[in-house]
Formats: sequence, C-alpha cells, structure tokens
Amino acid sequence: AFIFMFFLWRYLVSVKIYNALKNKNQELENIKKELIISNKNLKYLSFHDNLTKLYNRHYFMSTLEDHFNNVVRQRGVSAILMIDIDFFKKINDQYGHSVGDKVLQQFSSILSEVLRAGDIPARWGGEEFIVLLPKANKEETLSLAKRLSEAVEQFTFELNIKLTISVGISQYNAHDNVESWIERADIALYKAKNDGRNCIKEMA
Ligand code: GH3
Ligand code: MG
Ligand code: MG
Repeated sequence: AFIFMFFLWRYLVSVKIYNALKNKNQELENIKKELIISNKNLKYLSFHDNLTKLYNRHYFMSTLEDHFNNVVRQRGVSAILMIDIDFFKKINDQYGHSVGDKVLQQFSSILSEVLRAGDIPARWGGEEFIVLLPKANKEETLSLAKRLSEAVEQFTFELNIKLTISVGISQYNAHDNVESWIERADIALYKAKNDGRNCIKEMA
C-alpha cells in the first residue's frame, strides 16, 4: 500500500507539473501572437500617413532610394510627380479643419484609384503629395498626370467643394541623384503654381 501510494503521489505531481507547463506554453503562444500583431501594426504605422493612409515621406524616400539604384543600373525610365492642391487654405478657412481633413482623405482615394499597380503614392506633407511612377516614360507620365488632374476636377468633394491641383513632373535623367530628381519635380510644381495653378509642368 505504501509503494502504491508513493507511485500514485508521484503520478499526481507529474500530472500537475505537466498541466502547469502546458498552461505556461499556451500563455507564451498567446503573447507571441500578440507581439506579431503589434509588430505588424507598428510597421504599418511607421510606413503610412495616419490621416490619408497613403505611404509617408519616410517610407517613400527609402523606396525611392532602392528604386533609384535599379533605374541607374538598368538605365531605365521612371518619373516623379509632385502634386499640390490649389488654394487649400481657403477650405480650412471657410469650412474648418475637419472638412479640410476629409477633403485630403477624398483626394487620396482619387489618387489611389487613378494610379496603376506598382506606382507609389505618398503624402509629402500638408496638402502636398508625391508619386513614383516606376518604368513610366514621358508620355505615360503626362497622361497619368492629366487623368489625375481631370479626376480631381470632376469630383465633388465634401460639402460640394470643387478643387483643382497643380502637378510638377520630373523624368529621371542620367545626371540625377535622388535629391536632384525630387528637386526638379518641385521646381516644376512651382512653375505650375506661378502659371496660374490647375496645370501640369515638366522640368527637364
Ligand atoms: P496654393 O494654391 O499656393 O498651394 O495655396 P494653398 O492655400 O493650397 O497653400 P498654402 O501653403 O498657403 O496652405 C496650405 C494649407 O494646408 C495650410 C495648412 O493649414 C493646410 N494643411 C496642411 N496640413 C493639413 C492637414 O493635415 N489638415 C488640414 N485640414 N489642413 C492642412
Ligand atoms: Mg496648395
Ligand atoms: Mg502646399
């Protein structure tokens, strides 16, 4: 009876330990799953703009640098669009900041709809946006900028607001580095603004 009791006791202790370990394992599994999810969320947040859900400037720059190296190596064609909403400040002044926010979101949806798979749109800051058009030649770039511009002009935004955009284009050239390529798009956008807005300019 003593020996029997001893083995029974040993068995019960090991079952208890086994169950405790099993629970701990399950807890660890759950923590691991939660960590994977929050890691994914953090990654999403660090790559995207909170308001528009487009890529943010930081993500755009790192993608552009990778893409730039490929374009140089392959002597490819590629373009950047710099887009700025015309007279956007008036919308905030007239209707308030939250309507302005909604308009920025609506604009971002139009932008995403017009772009093709592989194009990379990002919020550059405020009401300014940048798009990388990998492999786009001069004609394709211009036609896409026109389609975007028309889509914005035809769209009726929140509270019946109508909008136009100004667009600057820079086609990659062999003398470019990443900064000069962006800079030319920026200069082109500046020209579009100076030319009365609601137009597309290119800087060679
Ligand atoms: P232009 O045609 O020369 O581009 O004129 P604009 O009024 O669009 O340009 P300006 O730079 O004078 O004004 C931009 C405005 O965009 C000012 C700023 O308050 C507003 N803005 C920037 N970021 C946000 C945002 O996240 N939400 C809202 N609602 N407004 C923003
Ligand atoms: Mg503007
Ligand atoms: Mg601006």
